[in-house]
Amino acid sequence: MIKVLDKSVADKIAAGEVIERPVSIVKELVENSIDSGADSIVVEIKKGGKSYIRVTDNGSGIPADQAETAFLRHATSKINTAKDLNAIETLGFRGEALASIAAVTHTELVTKTADSTTGTRILIHGSEVLSNGKTGCPDGTTFIITDLFYNTPARLKFLKSDSAESSLIIDFMSMIALAFPKIRFRLINNGNIVFSSNGKGNLLSTILSVYKIGEYKDLVPVNYSFGENTVTGYISKPSLSRPSRRNQVFFVNGRVVNSKVIEKGVTEGYRERLFEGRHPICFLFIQTNPARLDVNIHPNKKEVRFDNESEIVSLISEGVKEALADDSAVIEAKAAPFRNVEYIRPEETQVDIKNILSSKPARVAENTVQEDAAAEILPAQPDHGQKREQAQEPECEQVHEHAVTRDSVEITIKEPAYKPFDFDMLRPTGAIFNTYITAVDEKCFYLIDQHAAHERVFYEKLVGEYMAEDKLKQPILTPIILEADPSVMVLMDEWVESLERMGFDISEFGGNSLIIREIPTFMTMSEAEDFLKEYLDGAADGVKKPNTVVIDKLITKSCKAAVKAHDHLSMDEINSLLNQLKACRNPFSCPHGRPTFIRFTMYEIEKMFKRV
Ligand code: ADP
Ligand code: MG
Repeated sequence: MIKVLDKSVADKIAAGEVIERPVSIVKELVENSIDSGADSIVVEIKKGGKSYIRVTDNGSGIPADQAETAFLRHATSKINTAKDLNAIETLGFRGEALASIAAVTHTELVTKTADSTTGTRILIHGSEVLSNGKTGCPDGTTFIITDLFYNTPARLKFLKSDSAESSLIIDFMSMIALAFPKIRFRLINNGNIVFSSNGKGNLLSTILSVYKIGEYKDLVPVNYSFGENTVTGYISKPSLSRPSRRNQVFFVNGRVVNSKVIEKGVTEGYRERLFEGRHPICFLFIQTNPARLDVNIHPNKKEVRFDNESEIVSLISEGVKEALADDSAVIEAKAAPFRNVEYIRPEETQVDIKNILSSKPARVAENTVQEDAAAEILPAQPDHGQKREQAQEPECEQVHEHAVTRDSVEITIKEPAYKPFDFDMLRPTGAIFNTYITAVDEKCFYLIDQHAAHERVFYEKLVGEYMAEDKLKQPILTPIILEADPSVMVLMDEWVESLERMGFDISEFGGNSLIIREIPTFMTMSEAEDFLKEYLDGAADGVKKPNTVVIDKLITKSCKAAVKAHDHLSMDEINSLLNQLKACRNPFSCPHGRPTFIRFTMYEIEKMFKRV
C-alpha cells in the first residue's frame, strides 16, 4: 500500500541529508546568524557537540509570530520567488536547516527583534513543539541544541570520538572567523575558550587570534588583481614552511574551498623559493565572477571548479610572487635557509632497495666519463640490522652483475670476491661544502652526506628510546614552550603518549600552549624544538595510539626538520658522527631511504682519468 509518510518520519529522513554530524549543526546555525546581520557570534559546545551546542548572536532576531514557522521545511525569509534564486547573497536559502535540526535533537530557541519588548522561547523535541511562549531576553537569537540524534541511534553510532568531532567544529569555526573578520567570534569548548576574534576587520589579527601561533605575525600580505579576479590574504615567507598543505586555507567568493588549481598557483608562486615537499602557510581569498564558477560539484560545497583555470593559476602565482618580492621576505629567506633543505617527495621516503639497486650499475659506459655512473652506492640493507655483517663490498676492479628485477627484492649478485664493509678501515679526511664528509679506505674514496648520516643516527636513537623501558630523559632548565593549532590541541590524548614514550615530558600550558620540561638525552634544545614542531604538525592528521607505522612515519619526517644540514663539523665531530653511524642498525641510508654513503672505487677514478 502506498502511503504518504507522516511528517516526523519525513523530517527525520530529510534531516539525515543536512545534519550528518555536530559540525553540520554548528555550520547551519552560524550561517543563519551571519545572514541575520549579527556582528557578534558565540558558539559553545560540549562533548564534541554531541550533548550540547549553543549559538548566540546579536542579529535581527525572529519576530514572535514567525518563530515557529522558521522550523517548517522550506520555510525561509531569504527567497520569495524563483527569480530570487539567481541573486542569492545569503549563506542559506533552502529553508531546511532548522526543520532538519529540530527533527533529530532537543532544540531550544530564544529570540527577540529590536522593535519588540519581549522575546520568544520555543522548545521542540524531534519536530514536535513542546512549548512556545514569551520570555525576557536580549536582542538577537540563541539556539541551544542538546541530545543530538537521540531518536536516530543508528546515526549516533557513526559519530567519531568527542575530540574528533570537536576538532571538526574548531576547524569550521576557524575558517568562518577568517572569512568574516568583521564579526566577533568566540568559541567555547567544554567550558574553555578556544579562541575569540576581535571583529575589527583586520585579517592578520584574526589569523593570530584564531591560531595563536606567534610565527604567523611575520606573514606577508597578498593583494593582487588581474581582470575580474582578485586575490588577497596572507602568506608565509619562504623561511616558514610546513611538510604538508594543512596550513593552507583558500576561500573563493567567501566560501572555504579545496582546489588543486589554487594549490598549483601557490606552488608556482613559490617556485625556487621552497624545496620540494615543503609547503607555505597561506590564507588566500579569491574573488571571481560567480558566473565562471561551479561550487556545487561536491555536496558539501568544498570543491570548486573554475572555467578559467589557467587565469586563476596565474592570478595566484603572480600575487604570491609580488608579495614575496617585498624586500623583507627575501632577506629572511636567506637568513634561515636551512629549515627548508632537503625535503623529498613522499614516494621517495620509503627505504626502497629496488630503487637503490636500479640506480646502479656503477659501470662507466664505453669509457665515457659520466658523473653519475662513476659513483656507486653501497648496498643498503633490506631488513634493519642482522645482515649487517654481510654488507658486501664488491672488489674494485671487477665489473659485477646484478640479477635484479625491478619488482623483486631478492638480490642475487654474481659473486666476485666480496668482503664485508669495515667501518674501522674508514679514515675521514675532512668535509667539503660543509655538507659531505670525505673519507678513504684502502681502495675507495667515500662521500658521506653528513645530514643524512646525522638523521639516521637521530632516527635510530629516537626509535630506540621509543622501544626502551627506561627513557633517558634530561630535564631542561628553560622549558620549551610551543604553540599548536587548536585542532591539534584537542587531539592531544591521541599523540601525547607517543611523545612521552620517546622521552619527552610534555603538558598543556594554558590556551594552545604546550610546555616541555624534559627531552631525550641525546637531543639539543633546538633539535627537540624543531622535532616537536614538525611532529605536532603531522599529528594533526591523527595518530592512533597503537599505530606504530604512522608513528614511525612521523618520526622519520620530523627527524628531517630537527637535524640541520650545512653545519661546519670539526674533525672530532666527524669522528663522533661516523662512530655513531657505525653503531646504527642500518648505516647506509637515511630514514627516507636516501644513501648516506657514496663510494668511488679507485678503479672508477682511474677510469675517469683514462688511466685504465
Ligand atoms: P534558510 O537559512 O535556508 O532560510 P533555515 O531553516 O536555516 O533556512 O532558517 C529558516 C529561517 O529562520 C531563516 O530564513 C530566517 O528567517 C530564520 N532564522 C534562522 N536563524 C536565524 C537567526 N539566527 N537570526 C534571525 N533569523 C533566523
Ligand atoms: Mg539557514
